[in-house]
Amino acid sequence: VTTPEERLLSGLNPQQREAVLYRGEALLIVAGAGSGKTSVLTRRIAGLLQAREAWPSQILAITFTNKAANEMRERVEAIVGREAADGMWISTFHSACVRILRREAETIGYTKTFTIYDSADSRALIKRILKETDADTMGFTPGSVAARISKLKNELADVDSFARQANFNDPKEALFVEIFRRYSSELERAKAFDFDDLIAQTVYLFRAFPKVAALYQRRFRHVLVDEYQDTNHAQYSLIRELTRPVEAHVAAELEAEQGYSSSQRAADGAIPAASLTVVGDSDQSIYAFRGADIRNIVEFERDFPGAKVILLEQNYRSTQNILDAANAVISNNFDRKDKKLFTTVGGGDKIVGYTGYSGHDEAQFVADEITALHDRGVDYRDIAVFYRTNSQTRALEEIFIRSAIPYRVLGGTKFYERAEIKDAMAYLITVANPDDPMALRRIMNVPKRGIGPATEAALQLHADTRGITLREAMREADQLGLGPKVTGALRELATLLDEEMERAPRTPVPDTLKALLERSGYLEALRNSRDPQDEARAENVEELVAVTREFQRSTPDGTLLDFLTEVSLVAAADELDDSSGTVSLMTLHTAKGLEFDAVFITGVEEDLLPHRMSASEPGGPSEERRLFYVGITRARKKLYLSLAMTRAQFGDVTVAMPSRYLQEIPAELIEWKQSPGMANSRGGSQPRALNARRERGFNLRDSLPPAPSKPRVKTEWTNQVTGKMRDNGDLTLAAGDRIRHTDFGEGRVTSVSGQGAKSIAEVQFDQVGRKRLLIKIAPIEKL
Ligand code: ATP
Ligand code: MG
Repeated sequence: VTTPEERLLSGLNPQQREAVLYRGEALLIVAGAGSGKTSVLTRRIAGLLQAREAWPSQILAITFTNKAANEMRERVEAIVGREAADGMWISTFHSACVRILRREAETIGYTKTFTIYDSADSRALIKRILKETDADTMGFTPGSVAARISKLKNELADVDSFARQANFNDPKEALFVEIFRRYSSELERAKAFDFDDLIAQTVYLFRAFPKVAALYQRRFRHVLVDEYQDTNHAQYSLIRELTRPVEAHVAAELEAEQGYSSSQRAADGAIPAASLTVVGDSDQSIYAFRGADIRNIVEFERDFPGAKVILLEQNYRSTQNILDAANAVISNNFDRKDKKLFTTVGGGDKIVGYTGYSGHDEAQFVADEITALHDRGVDYRDIAVFYRTNSQTRALEEIFIRSAIPYRVLGGTKFYERAEIKDAMAYLITVANPDDPMALRRIMNVPKRGIGPATEAALQLHADTRGITLREAMREADQLGLGPKVTGALRELATLLDEEMERAPRTPVPDTLKALLERSGYLEALRNSRDPQDEARAENVEELVAVTREFQRSTPDGTLLDFLTEVSLVAAADELDDSSGTVSLMTLHTAKGLEFDAVFITGVEEDLLPHRMSASEPGGPSEERRLFYVGITRARKKLYLSLAMTRAQFGDVTVAMPSRYLQEIPAELIEWKQSPGMANSRGGSQPRALNARRERGFNLRDSLPPAPSKPRVKTEWTNQVTGKMRDNGDLTLAAGDRIRHTDFGEGRVTSVSGQGAKSIAEVQFDQVGRKRLLIKIAPIEKL
């Protein structure tokens, strides 16, 4: 017979046990990937509940994605039972803050029905402001401004604090302040928060209203944070606020108001600080660009004196070869504490390497290997393909479709980013939050009602002069002196929205959505359109109706606002559905915290990994290395690293070089199916001659645009990285020349086009027919 505590601790190593059982004010668990940090956090929560040391409502656990939150909840429930776990807050920083703000927003002058602007909304707003201020002519782009504002907010700087130290002699700086100011006031007018506000505003709220903060400080007795290395300053401050003691007089005031006495108060009347547990791995810090502060982990001991630190060293996820590769790569970062991970899983298979001629060729390799894995019984859902940038998915998707591999792209152009879904959502938002002008503007003339930019400007002017919202201005359409048709259209839309708004609280969400789509004529316009794409759009909109139905089924009491909140918080990784047998495609950033039996990391090339943007960032290449480390350590059993020699990007073909990180992996760990050196490779395994895949018709043309445009190719394709790369130097070919290709055999050049490094030869091969080759790098010699 086992006791519950034995079950709780079963299988854990001594350090893990200690981490689960430690009781004290602050606990830091630092450990490498796959060492059980998340597992320990989960069992700690279960242990607190099981021993009845805490009520579920006293627990706040922060995870990186909503999906991770759900998983953690399920695991805790599996140990202590569903009821015993009911009422815990396990969520992301954003979701936790939304919950707090929905309750407390009025304290800081907002309404509880505030809208949440996602990054696309923010950019759209910034774009408009840039136009209005002519800043777009001064080199400001929506992306750069959005990033800068976001960074400031993550440092808890608002416009005023920023303006106080800004240099107004610099006209660009002054203009930025103006943009930031407009952006902030537009958000405020719209009763909207952007993503970064959710956290920053909660921190402001807690700091300005200690009594409100005390409600949460008293409530949450245990705060636990996963992926602590990626918290930024605002998130860190939030944790600090939540884990402060409540002073005796504040506690007393609260109790007097609420008429109940808290068991939490100590002898001196104060409520002691909550206990804080954070787990993280500084080697996996990959969000510095968003203001995540690696110091948070390094300086934890300083900020929380007396904190207990526990190290975990055994990796339970990966084979020794995978782990050795990960350790070797990350040990090249100089600014880290060395830690050794070991595993008892055993050596396992070697890492498989492959160098494609092109992105397509690389994708074909990935597809072939996936098919082979699947044939050997590996489930598609246990396979993942990672890449550095979303643009790499196109080639992969094309080949996957052709190879009939079921796949899912996490993150890319998401369902909720489609125009028609945004339209439909905008209708819902105008009903939930009539103050939001962004949503209203979006649908004002969608479907076409004859409300053009001039009418919109007139409305805006009216709103500004009267100090009312755009929506209120619409209700006063008759006073604008517009033509009868436009006035009628405005009044009709206002009535429709007002009526649905009035009905919404008593109406299921799917019904509200359907009513809006039907009555506005939106759906009809799509259905009557001759544009075939509109048919797909109509289907997508119907899909959204299905989503609302699903939502209402799982949350019968859920309001429209609940639905909008849920949607706005869907993070990329949340689309992962384990039950569907599909291969997962995602960026390396999205992969954090996940694990798969087989992992493909594609595009292991200079300029992609490390990304060329990182070169100009301080610490950029180190951060990129950590990203690569995160990718490697997701793999349980099989790891594939692939790259391409040429890559079609932005409608152009560039010659790629192997990533510097490849060289950091000991050669004996990788088995190259096709090495970067191709036939020239010394020492490494010889590439198989003309493998079956390429016989099936690989063609460089697949990835080359017919007429190469402006050369963006690096002029030198050097050997500096591996010393193995092929470079034909100044080899010049002309029509009529005979050549020999390592894989394709002999052939005759029929034509040469392009210049310099991008010269392309069209060759009629005796055996395999016509091919196009990039002369500089093709494994060829002139006969
Ligand atoms: P990451 O740094 O990638 O987030 P992590 O440190 O959070 O990793 P977990 O995801 O908790 O690690 O654990 C990695 C894997 O090891 C999981 O599959 C988990 O179930 C397993 N695991 C953890 N501890 C043990 C143990 N003591 N015995 C067996 N398996 C374990
Ligand atoms: Mg984890």
